[in-house]
Amino acid sequence: MQHCKICTHPNVKEINERLVKGDSNRILATEYGVTESCLHRHKLKHIPQSLTKAFQEIVEKDSFDIMSKIDFLIKETEDIYTVSRNGGRDLLALKSLDSLRNHYQLLINISAQLHANRVLELELLKARNGETDDEEKKEFEHNIKILSTEELKVLIRIQNKVNNQTDETIISDGIVMPE
Ligand SMILES: [Zn+2]
Repeated sequence: MQHCKICTHPNVKEINERLVKGDSNRILATEYGVTESCLHRHKLKHIPQSLTKAFQEIVEKDSFDIMSKIDFLIKETEDIYTVSRNGGRDLLALKSLDSLRNHYQLLINISAQLHANRVLELELLKARNGETDDEEKKEFEHNIKILSTEELKVLIRIQNKVNNQTDETIISDGIVMPE
């Protein structure tokens, strides 16, 4: 199989983020010295389309329930893994594991971006209100409160997966598979 020039590009993370945000192939092709067709194929085959759509929807609604949407996608992929594995369809099971890794990688990128945005917002708000450093603790507490219980749960589960999942196992709802 031919290597994807985007997947092997040194700026792949940046390119993925910008593709997800909806930057045009034409602009990215010029900026990163790659072809539009490479970007097109990469976006189609290597970035989960539904995730791209979900992110765009969220941006349009200016809402932060993206975590639960990604959680849904992860659950769907996990279901595919479980069904494939139980049905002895090892190749499909492996493919869904790969897909899960992509979901996580993208999720990490998006979370980092959202977090950076929020920190920036808080910094701007602070500067505008002329607050002192003494109030940083309050700001932090407020920052955590912005996340819903469901979002916190998802975040904890993702951290658990990222920290504990190996090549041979997958963690679904806190349960390690294969047992
Ligand atoms: Zn690719």
